[in-house]
Amino acid sequence: MAIKQVAIVGATHGNEITGYYLLQKWQQQPELIQRSSFNTRTLLANPKAVEINRRYVDQDLNRQFASHNLADETLGGYEQNRAKVINAELGPKGASKTDLVIDLHTTTSNMGPTLLMPQAGPFYNQLAAYLKLKMPSVTIFRDEDHKANEEHHLLATTGRYGVIVEVGPVPQAVLRQDIFEQSEELTLHILDFAQAYNTDSLPDLPKETEAYRFLESLKLPVNEQGERIGMVHKNIQDSDFKALNPGDPLFQLITGETIYYQGEKTVYTAFVNEAAYYDNNLATSLMEKVTITLD
Ligand SMILES: [Zn+2]
Repeated sequence: MAIKQVAIVGATHGNEITGYYLLQKWQQQPELIQRSSFNTRTLLANPKAVEINRRYVDQDLNRQFASHNLADETLGGYEQNRAKVINAELGPKGASKTDLVIDLHTTTSNMGPTLLMPQAGPFYNQLAAYLKLKMPSVTIFRDEDHKANEEHHLLATTGRYGVIVEVGPVPQAVLRQDIFEQSEELTLHILDFAQAYNTDSLPDLPKETEAYRFLESLKLPVNEQGERIGMVHKNIQDSDFKALNPGDPLFQLITGETIYYQGEKTVYTAFVNEAAYYDNNLATSLMEKVTITLD
């Protein structure tokens, strides 16, 4: 089924301002994001958080889109209300008027241009292969794509298809030209893919595409009171999508002691030392390397 309506969403997190300024650019030059076979609209997701230059006002907006939360009228925080408004505008989730949602994010981690895919399937597999062909620096990140769509709490899952453009490293509330350009390039390739997909003009795609699949998050070391007592080890700082082997240094305690990775097999890191995850004491995501295969 063709892609007829695309939505590009920015500033779901109010201090990830790259998306905010990309939307400004495209509002001034809408021809950049239009393609002949579909309509593209833009949406500023969290204007109040942009105004106060914070990730969110009351709750993390990108955690509010599970179907049971959208249906829960007792959830009345600013982002919980915004989620319902956005779902009505782009979705509704499960019966969406938007065929493809592209949600723009940045990370303080050294992940480069990354495409997060919260769902699996042939459309996503072709998109992944296309992006690796057109922009080899892109990393494909399969994010809990075994979960049913209604359980996903991400904004992008309001669309029939949805992806997250996640680019870093960039500090919160900072604009960097390289990150801005990578975010724009990746987004435009996604639009070009949708156009080629609609018009049956996809290039020959690689049969196999390397990707990383989310396994679990690791927490920073804390004491019995829940206070942080250590930090991400310098060996894995900035080493997103690099191998972490059993026995490798993982954390350094404030007292100087090194904590080693205790897992049983080699995994790969992502969102290493992400600033936005400090409120949950998350240190890094662990990923497995997988291959996306086209039939
Ligand atoms: Zn974000």
